[in-house]
Amino acid sequence: MFDFIKMIHYKTTTEVEAMRESALLVSKTLAAVAAILKPGMTTKEVDAFAEKFIVDNGATPSFKNYKGFPFACCISVNDAVVHGFPNDKPLENGDIVSVDVGVFKNGFHGDSAYTFAIGEVSDEVKKLLRVTKDSLQMGIDKAVAGNRIGDISFAVQDYAERKHKYGVVRELVGHGLGRKLHEDPQVPNYGKRGSGAKLNDGLVIAIEPMINMGVKEVWYDDDGWTVRTKDGQPAAHYEHNVCVRRGKADVLSSFTEIEAAEKANPALCSDY
Ligand code: MG
Ligand code: MG
Repeated sequence: MFDFIKMIHYKTTTEVEAMRESALLVSKTLAAVAAILKPGMTTKEVDAFAEKFIVDNGATPSFKNYKGFPFACCISVNDAVVHGFPNDKPLENGDIVSVDVGVFKNGFHGDSAYTFAIGEVSDEVKKLLRVTKDSLQMGIDKAVAGNRIGDISFAVQDYAERKHKYGVVRELVGHGLGRKLHEDPQVPNYGKRGSGAKLNDGLVIAIEPMINMGVKEVWYDDDGWTVRTKDGQPAAHYEHNVCVRRGKADVLSSFTEIEAAEKANPALCSDY
């Protein structure tokens, strides 16, 4: 227990501001991606575009070469939940595509993800996107000093799984964030209220619900990275970087520009 607590790195105000810069560069990258996504584009093209954007903005893509991952982004289409390997398959009308981006700048990582809908998608898929995004907000609402990790986990699970009967992925979780891409503590999207590490002022975490329309079980594709839903139904993934504060969490990343770009792009569905 003592060792576990020791491994949590609380951030100073100066460090949090540096992290906000990294997180907002991820948001800007996702907004730039939102502006260019369209049917016919391959996820490799999306990845190359995002990598250039990150490098042009004076940062390094955090995921590239992380544990051997060869791309700047994880791009997960339809039944791919997370860690999607960019490939040469063109995006099609009706696809949903989660783009997960990390940047390293001024010594700190930012790490955020957003799921886009290409063209027209079914009402069922729209609901999956809406519920997943809302479950992220419910987790963020619990990221206040004095609560515990389990309060965030429970809020996400209760909304997505108990209320909406979706599958909450167990194998992959949110995490602490800072000088390292993955720091303690883990932030599962399922759990018991009042359990787990205490949330103290200055803790920065990535909250990232991975929600499946069907069963919660997943499998790993032959590429060794892409995580897919066992039943082949679609999955959604949204991720914010959040600093725990007293009273109200400080969200370091932002969806504002992404949502504006999503609305402005006629090739994307934004009314979900
Ligand atoms: Mg991420
Ligand atoms: Mg993450």
